Amino acid sequence: MRDPRHDILFEPVKIGPVTAKNRFFQVPHCNGMGHAMPLAHAAMRETKAEGGWAVVSTEECEIHPSGDLTPYVEARLWDDRDIPALALMCDKVHAHGALAALELSHNGPTASNLYSREVLIAPSPQPTKYGYPHQARAMTLHDIREYRRWHREAAIRGKRAGMDIIYVYAAHDLSLAMHFLQRRRNQRSDEYGGSLENRVRLLREVLQDTKDAVGDTCAVALRFAVEEGLGSGGVELAEAQEIVGMLAELPDLWDVNLAAWYNDSVPSRFAAEGAQEPFIAFVKKTTSKPVVGVGRFTSPDTMVSQLKRGMLDLIGCARPSIADPFLPKKIEEGRADDIRECIGCNVCVSGDMTISPIRCTQNPTMGEEWRKRWHPERIAPKRSAARVLVVGAGPAGLEAARALGQRGYEVSLAEARRELGGRVARESRLPGLAEWARVRDWRIGQIRKLANVAVYLDSALTAQDVLDFGAEHVVLATGCRWRHDGCGRSHGFAIPGLAENPRVFTVDDLMDGRLPEGKVVVYDDDGYYHASVAAELLRLRGCEVIHLTPEDSLAPWTLNTLDYRHVRKRMAELGIEALVSHEVTGYAGSALTVEDVWTHRQRELACDAVVTVTARLPDDALYQELCRREAEWMDAGVSSLRCIGDAEAPGLIAHAVYAGHRYARELEEPADGEVAFRRHFHSADADDLRRPHGQPPGRRSQETL
Ligand code: ADP
Ligand code: SF4
Repeated sequence: MRDPRHDILFEPVKIGPVTAKNRFFQVPHCNGMGHAMPLAHAAMRETKAEGGWAVVSTEECEIHPSGDLTPYVEARLWDDRDIPALALMCDKVHAHGALAALELSHNGPTASNLYSREVLIAPSPQPTKYGYPHQARAMTLHDIREYRRWHREAAIRGKRAGMDIIYVYAAHDLSLAMHFLQRRRNQRSDEYGGSLENRVRLLREVLQDTKDAVGDTCAVALRFAVEEGLGSGGVELAEAQEIVGMLAELPDLWDVNLAAWYNDSVPSRFAAEGAQEPFIAFVKKTTSKPVVGVGRFTSPDTMVSQLKRGMLDLIGCARPSIADPFLPKKIEEGRADDIRECIGCNVCVSGDMTISPIRCTQNPTMGEEWRKRWHPERIAPKRSAARVLVVGAGPAGLEAARALGQRGYEVSLAEARRELGGRVARESRLPGLAEWARVRDWRIGQIRKLANVAVYLDSALTAQDVLDFGAEHVVLATGCRWRHDGCGRSHGFAIPGLAENPRVFTVDDLMDGRLPEGKVVVYDDDGYYHASVAAELLRLRGCEVIHLTPEDSLAPWTLNTLDYRHVRKRMAELGIEALVSHEVTGYAGSALTVEDVWTHRQRELACDAVVTVTARLPDDALYQELCRREAEWMDAGVSSLRCIGDAEAPGLIAHAVYAGHRYARELEEPADGEVAFRRHFHSADADDLRRPHGQPPGRRSQETL
C-alpha cells in the first residue's frame, strides 16, 4: 500500500496539449548509445517507461549536420531517415502509458562537425570547444533563418516519430539558443546581440516556431540554465530571472537547471540531494506553466517537499532513473525502501565521455536491456537445487548473493570482517563518499528479505573450509589490496625504498585508521578519485600535503565523471599543493627522490611519509589454492569455482557490482555463443529496428533506414 503522503506524486500534470500521468519526469540524459545503437537506446528508455516514469526523454538530438557532435553519440534528426530510430523509442515508451520527449539541439560552436566537416557556426566568431582547434564563423541573418528552419523541420520530424514533448534546449552551454544569450559568445551588433531583449530574440523565435510547427499536439518545453557560475560573461541568476520573466508563458513547460553539465550533475562528493533549489526556486513564482527541475532526488519525502513548498511541479531525474528505472513504481506500490538509490558517482556520465554504452554502479542492468536482455527487476529462476557459496561481501559478493537469492538459489555468503560491504563500507567513511554506502545498504536490505540467503560475518574461510562446506558452486569475491611498492601505471617495477618502508602508507592503511603525520606526499599513479580523497583526508587531519602525479594534470580520469573541476577547486581551497609531471624514483630516510617526466631532472623532496595510490593486487590466494586442489573438488561436491570482482581484476565499484550480477545471471544458464551479447547491425538483430515493437512492416518501415 502506498504511503498516502506520497499521493501527490501520482497526480497527473497537464503540459500544454498533453498530460503526464504522474509527476515523475525522466529528463534528457546522454547514454553513449544514441543514434548509433537505436535498439539498445529504445530498450533502455522502455525500461524507464515500464518503471512508471510519466515522461521519458531522449538525450540531446542533433538537428543538422552543421551541429554534428561526433564522436559523442547522441540522438540525430538530420533528415527523414533518422525518424525510425526515434519512432521505435516512442512506440516502446507509449506501450507503457508514458510520454516521449525529444531534446532538440544545435550546438553551434560547441559542436565538433568532425563527421560532417561543415564549418561551425556561432553567434560571433570564436574558437570551438570540441574537435579540432578550429574556429566557428559568425552566423549571418540568412544562417539564423536557416537555423530556425532546421529546428522547425526537426520538430516536425519528432512529431512524426511520435514524440509528445519537443524541447527547445538552452542549457549546459551546449546550444545556439543558449549561446545567443551569453555575452561572451554573442558580441553581435544587430538585432540578435547587445541588449538582453536582443539576445533573447532567437530563443523566443525558436520557441514560437516550435509551437507553431507542432504545438497543436506536442507540448513545447524549454530547458533553460539559470546560472553558469562564470560571472557576467555567462548566464547569471539575475539575468536569468529577467529572461524567465520575458518568456514566462511561452513554453508549455520550464525545465530549469545549472550550467555547465559539471554544475548540473554534480557528484555526491561535492553536492547533496536538492542542491539546485536555491537557484531555481524563483521560476515557479514567475510562470504559471509547470516547472521541472533536478536534484538527484531519490527520497520520496524530499520529492513531496519540493512539490508542497512550491519549488517544482514535476520531479526531474536523470541519475536516479538510471540507478533505478522502477523508482516511481516502487513508491507507487509502497515499496520506497526497495529503491536502488543513486550514489552520485557519475560512472553513468563516463559512458558518454568514453563514447560507449552507459553503465551504472548501482544498476548493473543499465545499458544491457537490449544487449543482454537484462531487466532491472526480473531475473530467470534457478535451474537446479544447487547450493552456492559466495565468499566475500564487498559489492561483487553482495550483488552475486542478492541476485542468486532472487533467482531462488540457496546461498551462503561468508565475510571475513564483522561488517558487510567490503571496499564500499570502507571507502564510504572517507571524506565526501558517505553516499556510496548505498551500494552496500540497498543490497543488505534486499538480502534481508530473502529467506534463502544466509549471511555469515566474521568468517574468514580457508580453502579447507570451502571444500568442507560442500556447496556445488563456489564464487570468490575476496577483493584486492593497494600496492605498497609504487608499482603502477608508470612503473612496471617496484620503486626502490618503498616496499616495507614504515613511512609508506596505502589507501588501505588510511581506511584502517593508520594515518601518517607531518608533511605527506600522496603519489597518484592511478588517476581516479582515491588519491584526491586521501589528500583531503590527510589535510583535514592537519598534514601538509603534496599531491604528486606523473600525469600532466591531477586525477585526469575524473574528467569522465565530472569530478575534475570540483576536485581541483577543493584541492586548491584546502591548500593541497599539486605537483604534476613528476615521478617518484626512490625514498631513503625522509628524502623522496622525484623526477620531472619530461626533462628527467631529479631532485629531493623532504617529507615525513608517502601514500602510494598506484595499483592494486587481487586477494586471490584462496582462489589459487582451490585451483591447485581441483582434484579434491569432486569428493567435496564442488562442481564450479569462479573468482569475480576485484579479486579477479581490480577496478571500479561498478565493475565489481556488474561482475557479481553477471555471475548470478549466468550460473547454470547455457552460453549464448562466443559473444555474450547482441550487437547492432548484426543482420538478425537489425530486423528489430525495421519492425519496431514486434509489428509487421508498416508505417515505420516505410521510412527508409
Ligand atoms: P569487490 O569489490 O570485488 O566486491 P571488496 O574488496 O569490496 O571486493 O570485498 C571483498 C571482501 O571479501 C572483503 O570484505 C573481505 O573482507 C572479504 N574476504 C576476503 N577474503 C575472504 C575470505 N577468505 N573469507 C571471507 N571473506 C573474505
Ligand atoms: Fe547514480 Fe552512479 Fe548510477 Fe550514475 S552511475 S546513476 S551517479 S549510481
